[in-house]
Amino acid sequence: MSDQGRWLPALTSQLSGLRIAAHNACMRILVVEDNEGIAAGLRTNLMQRGYAVDVCASVAEAWHALSAERFDAVLLDLGLPDGDGSEVVRRLRLQTGRPGVPQLPDPATPVLILTARDQVQDRVAGLNLGADDYLVKPFDMDELEARLRAMMRRAAGQASPVIRHADLEVDPAARTIRQAGQKVEVSPREFAVLWALLLARGRVLSRPQIEEHLYSWGDTVESNAVEVYVHHLRKKLGQKIIVTMRGVGYFMPQEQE
Ligand code: CA
Repeated sequence: MSDQGRWLPALTSQLSGLRIAAHNACMRILVVEDNEGIAAGLRTNLMQRGYAVDVCASVAEAWHALSAERFDAVLLDLGLPDGDGSEVVRRLRLQTGRPGVPQLPDPATPVLILTARDQVQDRVAGLNLGADDYLVKPFDMDELEARLRAMMRRAAGQASPVIRHADLEVDPAARTIRQAGQKVEVSPREFAVLWALLLARGRVLSRPQIEEHLYSWGDTVESNAVEVYVHHLRKKLGQKIIVTMRGVGYFMPQEQE
């Protein structure tokens, strides 16, 4: 007991340091970057700031990591050896959850794109696909962390990820669709098709792009499945809800004022 006075101040200062680290330590960041120098720098720097950091160097590795673990944010390079980093965002945002079941990959994972200065088009494409923010290399670590925090705060504040479109209200967590306030019953696969088109609204999705969304249910998809689900959705929600682009695919028109 008499030792208390001696170790208490040291412990207190240690604890306050720990508190800062612990606050970030629950934050797990996935760094997707094939430049080893940049990746190592990011890893070291973020770990010093108290984050848990995993690094991977390709689209395939990133997808594998996101399927295995939950991350609070992803820092994403675009030029990767096996493809464009924006592919990761696109696939991530197409995932749908099952009610009450923790979902991996988590479609709501915040993504910050890290790009070279000459990749303006790619950056815009990445944001259009659902990335939350971007930074141009070389970047300042303080700015990166500030943006990371802002992004994760926004993600945490999104109590309800319900999407509203025209008179539709679609809740991906509860898997419910309301039209003009009335609940409309749809099958899980019909929901998956609608959700894919809704996230991409205004853009055409090809049949294979929509099918990819259905494969996450782990079954084989019949060749005319998408047509069938679109047909059902139109019967339930109205013919104009989904537009066919002959030979290309389907899209949901942007809301008209
Ligand atoms: Ca790269």
